[in-house]
Amino acid sequence: MSSPSQPANAPAPAANFIRNLVEADLAAGKHARRHWAGQPGTAADHAAGPLDPARIRTRFPPEPNGYLHFGHAKSILLNFGLAQQYGGRCHLRFDDTNPEKEEQEYVDSIIDAVHWLGCSWESDGETNLYYASNYFDWMAGFAEYLISAGHAYVDSQSADEMRANRGTLTQPGKDSPFRNRSVEENMDLFKRMQAGEFADGAHILRAKIDMAAPNINLRDPAIYRIRHATHHNTGDKWCVYPMYTFAHPIEDALECITHSICTLEFEDQRPFYDWLLERLAEGGLLQRPLPQQIEFSRLNLTYVVLSKRKLIQLVEEKHVAGWDDPRMPTLVGARRRGYSPEGFRLFAERIGVSKNDSLIDYALFEDAMREVMNESDLRRIAVLDPLKLIIDNYPDGQVEECFAPNHPLHPELGQRSVPFSRELWIEGEDFQEVPEKGFRRLFPGNKARLRYGYVVECTGCDKDADGKVVAVHCNYLPETKSGTPGADSVKVKGNLHWVSAAHACQAEIRLFDRLFRVPAPGARREGDAPELERNFLDDLNPDSRQTITAQLEPGLRDARPEERFQFERHGYFTVDRVDSRDGAPVFNRTVTLKDSWGKAG
Ligand code: ATP
Ligand code: MG
Repeated sequence: MSSPSQPANAPAPAANFIRNLVEADLAAGKHARRHWAGQPGTAADHAAGPLDPARIRTRFPPEPNGYLHFGHAKSILLNFGLAQQYGGRCHLRFDDTNPEKEEQEYVDSIIDAVHWLGCSWESDGETNLYYASNYFDWMAGFAEYLISAGHAYVDSQSADEMRANRGTLTQPGKDSPFRNRSVEENMDLFKRMQAGEFADGAHILRAKIDMAAPNINLRDPAIYRIRHATHHNTGDKWCVYPMYTFAHPIEDALECITHSICTLEFEDQRPFYDWLLERLAEGGLLQRPLPQQIEFSRLNLTYVVLSKRKLIQLVEEKHVAGWDDPRMPTLVGARRRGYSPEGFRLFAERIGVSKNDSLIDYALFEDAMREVMNESDLRRIAVLDPLKLIIDNYPDGQVEECFAPNHPLHPELGQRSVPFSRELWIEGEDFQEVPEKGFRRLFPGNKARLRYGYVVECTGCDKDADGKVVAVHCNYLPETKSGTPGADSVKVKGNLHWVSAAHACQAEIRLFDRLFRVPAPGARREGDAPELERNFLDDLNPDSRQTITAQLEPGLRDARPEERFQFERHGYFTVDRVDSRDGAPVFNRTVTLKDSWGKAG
């Protein structure tokens, strides 16, 4: 039987394996003697600076080629969270070494999204916001060092030849005929590559490791390529650009990163990460101890896609209204939809961090959101499918105040006054002319409570020529007003919400459903023919967005963009930050309430 405490040799709880590792490093003082130049730099730069005041350094390194999605949020919260927890710093680094794809629009949106999640790269007097393209001089210099030390060579094989000679998982590769060029020749060629003497693809710089290495990533990986392209930051200064697998470890080391956390698909790259940094540290170019790469499993969520490529496709082919479409699993979409940063935190903490690939149920994400919002959001009243209720024995023109609590869990948040009058809007589903079994709200002869108001007795309804109910009639019981001594004199089982028709704020509300109809969009399903290839776009839910006109309690007229409320019985709604106007809010449904209202509601 298990004892209350974990046996000493038990594996660390999966959710904490990174924290455990950081704690072990801290306990061992692994990083305590690092220096920090106050900015990124080489071993010499850092040696001239003081001891690093940060106990650890982590980073979030997006490539600015798209908007951030929910998966990135997991990585952001993990990296910034660790830094905060352990007295460290987390850098925001734009990994903009690829000249073709980056755009300022993406840089701006990434900065906004990280801030929105409540994370900051500014702490303790440091501003750790970096652009990898500012390191190109160092990177080219390091490449030249590798050439001079015999660790890199210029290969002039064609791309096809290189591919053919790389070998396979079961067969070793073949050495390039250019592999044994002299240091002088390699250096001369690399300089001329930089000077622009050659066309794209004519030569490539490769690390010289082992063409027979079982790990294909160690078979002389390419480290610098010729690319005649204008870079958004460095313009036309360079016509050679580093490969990602060369650039990334160097960026980490220059920035004194202690724990370089990435997703599992980079696991096979780790040997090269370590090989490269070792060679450069041997050469005295990088400070020790070197950063350690740690992999965790990426976030996969049901009913959405979390890949920039697919998200770009949704936007470009106009399957959604844009990156910030509230149905998009992007952080701009989440913000517009009304999801809360605190909800993301709770969700991230709950799913934890592990090395096991898993598909997380979207319901778990929604539950975390509901939990946070239930606590934080003020309650308001909205009628989404308005049906007129006429109280025939209530004086025409009379208006009185009813009081509704702002938050049932927080009486200190007070209450507000909502006007009550002869004609109200109620939910269409709260009246049934012929009640089904168990129905307890309004039907002829039945009594029900208008929440925060009176008990009414239904007397009948009006119908149009097609037999559709257009108004419900009732009489109220004056002695039953909520909050007065006689309120409970009449017991009823049904309870409904309402707004005064003369005072209501009419508003557009957007209701969202899942963007995809199936849990794993585009994935093969049981029974699929072997040759069938599915396209995630075929799994789009055609009814994922619906617009309705609702009647809201009058105070909501003044709701500000991004304010969020719980509309009683319906769920959580936020004021759309794009389409709302002063006095005319448009609402997005963030998430429904748990299906807990029950028939008695
Ligand atoms: P995508 O695969 O969606 O195109 P990416 O990994 O190419 O994303 P980057 O800009 O390179 O996007 O990612 C920045 C950081 O976010 C990386 O450290 C990456 O590991 C992390 N990240 C990306 N997607 C996920 C995910 N689904 N779960 C957790 N972390 C992620
Ligand atoms: Mg990437």
